[in-house]
Formats: sequence, structure tokens, C-alpha cells
Amino acid sequence: THFGFESVPEGEKESKVGAVFSSVASSYDTMNDLMSLGIHRLWKDHFVRSLNPGSPLASRGAESSGKGWNILDIAGGSGDIAFRMLDHATNINNDRETRVTVADINADMLTEGRKRSIDTPYYNTKRLSFMEANAQEMPSIPDNSIDLYTVSFGIRNFTDKQAALYEAFRVLKPGGVFACLEFSKVDNTLFNEVYKRWSFSAIPLIGQVVAGDRASYQYLVESIERFPSQQEFRDMIRKAGFMIPGQGYENLSCGIAAIHKGVKP
Ligand code: SAM
Repeated sequence: THFGFESVPEGEKESKVGAVFSSVASSYDTMNDLMSLGIHRLWKDHFVRSLNPGSPLASRGAESSGKGWNILDIAGGSGDIAFRMLDHATNINNDRETRVTVADINADMLTEGRKRSIDTPYYNTKRLSFMEANAQEMPSIPDNSIDLYTVSFGIRNFTDKQAALYEAFRVLKPGGVFACLEFSKVDNTLFNEVYKRWSFSAIPLIGQVVAGDRASYQYLVESIERFPSQQEFRDMIRKAGFMIPGQGYENLSCGIAAIHKGVKP
């Protein structure tokens, strides 16, 4: 392969998903930039700003004031969202207590995230930790213990999305927030034509050239296609027990991606 990223031999694949993320772990940012033309960075910035991590938790009063937020970033392997949230808490809210646990099912992604964290102020501090876990079942995380649960471009890959939503509900404190950034459905017919053409032809090609793995990127495109619409996914969040603020979602770039939120009553 061009850059030394070997695809995983067929027999050793735990699943297609696992293989995709093992093969792209070290080229993860490059691939994201190429596939989204760099726009994923803007979406992630907006996602974190909208959550305002580290701001005073009015809903829980004095009990938790001054102790920062306890955040769980699921499928957060690369650390992308975690570092942004810690930066936001520190620089915008002058909060140095907020902490993030990055959980991911894939050890290679966690290794990459840990490696990346060396260049941040959070390396080896109690504000940042890494944990291997399956979003559908996280027995090591107690009930009602998390202030904010984030999942960015992850839930699309979960085998049982509804089970992951129930698990998110379980670990969140009352008043805690579920927040998801994920590819969604384009809301404009003409633009949808262009977008479909781009994703179904260009993305597998980029995967082939950069990661030497066309099939995995073909799978990624198909998983975006299969993911429920904004309204369907919002209804799944509601079904898990969450209160839905407003219409429940915000479209980004005409719905190429969307942010969904739910609040545990
Ligand atoms: N959050 C990062 C971001 O926004 O760039 C990484 C997203 S990456 C596209 C998807 C991640 O989901 C991979 O690291 C993969 O290992 C993880 N993943 C897939 N299934 C999972 C599961 N059931 N539980 C936890 N993580 C999972």
C-alpha cells in the first residue's frame, strides 16, 4: 500500500468495523480531511461549542458546582472531541476540573488517541483517561454518574444502536445530556444527487489510494446510507427515555451531518 497501511487479513477480522478502524487508526485525520474536504473539523468545533462543557451546572445546583463536568466520550478513540471539550472548558469557562473518559471498542484507536494526547496539556492528568469499552454494555460505569455523554461519528457503527442509547440513559445523571454528532440525511434533492455521487465514487477511491482498502470505505459509505433519518433517530433517543429539546436535532451542511440531543429527566 502507498503509505504502509496494511489491510487486516480476512480471517483475523473481528468484524468489518473493527478492521476499518484498525487499518485507518494512524491515518485517521488525513482520511477524515480528504473525505469531508476538511469540514469535519468545523462540525466538531460547532458540536463542542454548542455543549459548552465546563460551564456552571445550574440544573444540579451547589452540589456539583466547582467540581467540573464528568464527561464520557464514546467511540472517541482519536481523542478529537475529548481534547476540544477540555480546551473549551479550560479556555472559555476557566474550568480546570472537568474531565473526560475516552471510551472505544478498538484498542488501536485508543492507542492513537493516547499518543495524540502527549501533545496536549491533559496528558497524564486526572482530566483525561482512556478505557476500552463497548457502548452497548459498560458495566464498569455506574448508574447516574455522567454529566455529558458524547458520541461523534460512532453510533452509526454500533451493532445495536438502541441498546447503546439505553446504556447512555443508564449512566447519565438526571439532568445529564446525551449528544451525538453523526452523518445524516441531506435535506435538498439536488444537493443530495451531487453528494451521493461524491460519496459513492470518491470515498471508496480515496480509501483505496490512501489506506489501500477500498472495501472498508465502501462499507463506510453504505453505513451512512443505512443510518436512520434525523426524525427516526430522534425517536430512538426518545424511546430510550430522554426528553427531547425543541425538534431534537440540528442539521449541519444541509444534513450531511446532524447533532442530536436528549436530556435525562
Ligand atoms: N469520535 C471520533 C471522531 O469523531 O473523529 C472517532 C470516530 S470513528 C469514525 C468511530 C469509532 O467508533 C471507532 O474508533 C470505533 O472503534 C468505534 N466503535 C465502533 N463500534 C463501537 C462500540 N460498539 N463501542 C464503542 N466504540 C465503538
